[in-house]
Formats: sequence, structure tokens, C-alpha cells
Amino acid sequence: MKSAALPSSFGAANLLQIPVYQPYLGGNVSRYVNACLDSGWISSRGDFVSKFETGFAEFIGANEATSVANGTVAIHLALDALGIGPGDEVVVPTLTYIATVNTILQTGAKPVFVDSIEDTLQMNPEAAELAITPRTKAVMAVHLYGHPCDMTSILAICRKHNLLLIEDCAEAFGSKWNGQHVGTFGDAATFSFFGNKTITTGEGGMVVTRDPEIMRRCRRLKNQGVSSTREYWHDILAYNYRMTNIQAAIGLAQLEVAPEILALKAQVAQAYRAGLSQLPLRTHDAVGDVVHSHWMCSVIVDHPQDRDSLRSYLAERGIETRPFFPQTHTMPHCRAEGEFPIAARLSARGVNLPSYPGLSQDQIDGVCAAIRSFWGCLLQIR
Ligand SMILES: *Cc1c(COP(=O)(O)O)cnc(C)c1O
Repeated sequence: MKSAALPSSFGAANLLQIPVYQPYLGGNVSRYVNACLDSGWISSRGDFVSKFETGFAEFIGANEATSVANGTVAIHLALDALGIGPGDEVVVPTLTYIATVNTILQTGAKPVFVDSIEDTLQMNPEAAELAITPRTKAVMAVHLYGHPCDMTSILAICRKHNLLLIEDCAEAFGSKWNGQHVGTFGDAATFSFFGNKTITTGEGGMVVTRDPEIMRRCRRLKNQGVSSTREYWHDILAYNYRMTNIQAAIGLAQLEVAPEILALKAQVAQAYRAGLSQLPLRTHDAVGDVVHSHWMCSVIVDHPQDRDSLRSYLAERGIETRPFFPQTHTMPHCRAEGEFPIAARLSARGVNLPSYPGLSQDQIDGVCAAIRSFWGCLLQIR
């Protein structure tokens, strides 16, 4: 297959120039980080930690938030604080990032996998209800690639069956269901601030909950379980999951530009939607009364056999992409019975395109032109 002509701004000099993600580090980030260095408060004590936590809770409309070292330990901390452990089952979509499932396994609980919905990519609430057994303790809703789950149905199921609800919002900072931020529906919710997440602290995470008792447990568990009244006295098995003041300084600066980041990401998604019409694929669009924060701008190709050749074609033209996650229940240490046909087909057909807020219209045009020429080439060959 000969390489297709692309816009001149997309010439050989620009090969391998468009990564899937780049952080958007503007605003006060260096000022705040330098303030940490100048003051010596570089570890997990310092003003930025509480400022970031308070600002974050305010941004999403949560009561309280506590920061942690990354998004994975955020989930583990939330599960532990909610008392989930051996003998419990947690209902979880198989189509998610491995951290969601690993943290359930790490508590000693059993993940019970469910299928997804074709258009939104989110957990199927009916499948979740069918997966409930007498041992089910919680439902883990994952807002995948920035689209919120159907929180009305999931909340109703949790209330009906008296189950805890945890939201993994690692990919959905800024997403809303019926006008309400994700992370404010369940008993606890977690966020990730990895370098490619919508707002970043390098590595970092957050746990939010409306329950003051759960928040107290999270704060104690993330800090070695230290007694509040006796120095170096630890009476529960706990962790060091703390975020540093430097991470929080970056986070606070990110929070200040978060509306800008979210607006730019919405524009990027819209530009892809316009540039990729009438091809044998669909973009991952918002369904219903939701705000889709477009952590990733995804396309789902009609025919699974096109997926990997499209990715190679784009890679040859300097455009990095990522495939959708494999189904977690097929991985060796998570292996479970069951067929999840929608998740399986999505996993085989999904491609995440360059999705960062700083993408220019020219770059998006270049990606769209390359994708269009991929099918143009195929047509010529066929
Ligand atoms: C990124 C991510 C996590 C984990 O976050 P880290 O900060 O990388 O530990 C958890 N769940 C999902 C769905 C994610 O995308």
C-alpha cells in the first residue's frame, strides 16, 4: 500500500509527531511547584495538599476529597474503607482498565464481570442486576473513556439490592449524568491524575465520598493507620498512599485551567466527529442528557478486521493510536467464566485517537485525512 498524500503541514518532517496524549501544563503550574521547592515542603505535608483537595471537591460538587499517590491506590483505599474483602463479590464491567479489577482482587473480594452497552461503551445495568448473588457487596461503575454510565439505573439497582456503589472516575473528570458530576452518585468515587488523564499531577489520585465516616477511614488508612491521639501508634493494618505537596501543587494549577482543558477537549471531539463522517466507523458520542468529557476520542470501526490495519496505517504516518482495553476477565490472573459479546466486539473494534487538549485543527484534519485515505486505499486495492 503506497502512502497517501496528506496536507503539507503533515509532511515527512512531521512523522511520528502526533502522540495519543500530552498533558496541558499551563497556568500557575511552575509557580506553584517552585513555591514547594523554595519553601522545602516537598513531601506530603504542605498547603497545596489541602487546597487541591478542597478545590477538587468544590469543582465536582462533592462534600470532601482526599488525595492519594495514584488512581489505583485510590480504588483500593475506597474498597478497603467500605469494608470490602474476602467472601464479597463486586460487580464490574469486563471492559475496563486492569486497575479496576486488580484492586478488587487485592482486597480478597471476587470481581463478577458484566457486559457493556454498544453505543455508550458503559456497563450494562441489566447485566449488572443479573450478576447479583447473595454474596454481592458492591457495584463498581467505571465511566469508560469519559462517557458516564447510566447512573439512574445503576443507583436504582444498588438501592433495591442494598449494595454499595463505587465509581471509578479515572477517565471521567468533568463528565456529568443528568447535570451532576460523576463521582457524586456512589458511596465512594475515585479519580486518577496520571500524565494522560484529563487533569494530571504526574502520578496521583483522589477519593471522594459524602460519608464523613468513610472519609475518616480513608484518611487514616492512607496514612499508616496512625492514631490521632498517640504518636507512632498504629492499631490497624494500613498504607502509605499519600500524595506529595508537589503533586498537589501541579493539581491545583490544573484545576484552575480545568474548564479550559474540558472546553478544548470538547472541541477536539467535535472536530473528529465532523471530519470522520460517512466512513465505516462511528465516533464515541454522548448519548442522552450527559456531558461526555472525551478523555479519549474513540472510533469504533464497523469491521474488526479493519482495526489493526488502520492502526498500522496511521502509525506509518506518525499518528499514534491505542486499541480499546482487552476484556479483563480474559487475563490470566483475572480469568473467569462467561461470554460478554458486546464487550468482546467493542474491544476488537475500538481505536483511541490522539485526544489531548492542545491538538490543533490542522493536526485533527491530518488525522481525519489519514483515516479517510486508509479506506480510500482499501477501495483501490479491492
Ligand atoms: C488510569 C486508570 C486507573 C488507574 O489510575 P493510575 O493513576 O494510573 O493508577 C484506574 N481505572 C481506570 C479506568 C483508569 O483509566
